[in-house]
Amino acid sequence: MTSAEIIAIGTELLLGETQDTNTRDMAIFLKENGIDLYRTTIIGDNKDRITAAIREALGRADIVITSGGLGPTVDDPTREAVAAAAGVETVFSEELWAQIEDRFRRFGRTATSNNKKQAFIPKGAIPVENRVGTAPAFIVEVENNVIISLPGVPRELQHLLKTKIQPYLNSRYGDRQIIGIKVLHTSGLGESQVDELISDLETHSNPTVGLSAHPGQVDIRITAKGKDQSVVDEMLDNMASEVSLRLGDRIFGEDQVSLEEIAVKKIKETGLKAEIFHQGLGVKFETRLVTANFPENNIHSILNKIDLKNKDDCNSLTENYSKQGSTLIMIACLFENGEQHKLFLKLETPTKQLTDSVSYGGPPELSQDWAANQVFDFLRRNL
Ligand code: ATP
Ligand code: MG
Repeated sequence: MTSAEIIAIGTELLLGETQDTNTRDMAIFLKENGIDLYRTTIIGDNKDRITAAIREALGRADIVITSGGLGPTVDDPTREAVAAAAGVETVFSEELWAQIEDRFRRFGRTATSNNKKQAFIPKGAIPVENRVGTAPAFIVEVENNVIISLPGVPRELQHLLKTKIQPYLNSRYGDRQIIGIKVLHTSGLGESQVDELISDLETHSNPTVGLSAHPGQVDIRITAKGKDQSVVDEMLDNMASEVSLRLGDRIFGEDQVSLEEIAVKKIKETGLKAEIFHQGLGVKFETRLVTANFPENNIHSILNKIDLKNKDDCNSLTENYSKQGSTLIMIACLFENGEQHKLFLKLETPTKQLTDSVSYGGPPELSQDWAANQVFDFLRRNL
């Protein structure tokens, strides 16, 4: 399979002044075009370091895509660096210069001698016209490898990827495979528990299976490569079925589905009026409920209203609310307990009463996210 590396060029990226969104755009572009991305690099506006980075990347991947550093100023060294990596000089392109002059004329301006610098490209490079900006791009073919240099302005980069680079890749690497991804979400199991259940699947090469853990939620990402969408979809579905067999109802959804959406859907299906009381779960918990269309008026933060110190205090709260017929009451209290956090959960409906208490020893700043996911998981599994 065709492979690529990305090099985002710009000292402003290393200084944290500009967020590197181009790498993400290029990564998505490569994925959608069936090209394996091996590595990404961010590097400052330094010719020698860029040359070295390109040479190294060419040793590992078929295609190297750079973004940035194509402007007319001295601190835009990409042209020179690419030429050095390809072992050629830069040469003046009349064709590019005519395009640059024409573009300036259309903007009602005159190109300066500085802009002439932008008409220099590595010898033998294929010029890529940039109709949405002034920095022209180019492609250099070096034996079996290709270096593609695109401007740093995100809008220009996106435009050129779609209109110029995609057709180029289609003609050069016609038999490319496409990549598909399916994400299965689980809750109620830790990362190592999920890992134990599917560790043999994680060694597959196509599709690949990988885990990403969040507090109280573990995602399983399945990635398949194949010659067309139907082949890829079938591979994804088969692997998803195998994973589902192992994990059963610990899987709550796929792709864009959120845990709170499932929990709120389950609550609504009961037809009961639902009230949720919580202590210590924070505003984010409430926001997630409201975003999942749970009525804001039925969420009650009991923080600071009653001095709750343990689960008995929390439990006693239900006394005041449980005598109301067709009501569903959910109480969740998060306590600090030394090094650990403890979450007390109570669910009461006209037909059932359930309590649970779970401990958390992860990073304290993630305890609320963890607790919120525990609450949603408790609701979705018990309703
Ligand atoms: P120009 O001719 O417009 O200068 P260029 O190719 O020289 O194009 P740069 O000067 O490196 O591009 O960057 C132009 C703009 O794009 C700057 O505002 C820069 O901060 C932004 N930019 C550069 N690289 C990235 C990136 N990786 N992600 C997001 N923005 C970027
Ligand atoms: Mg720059």
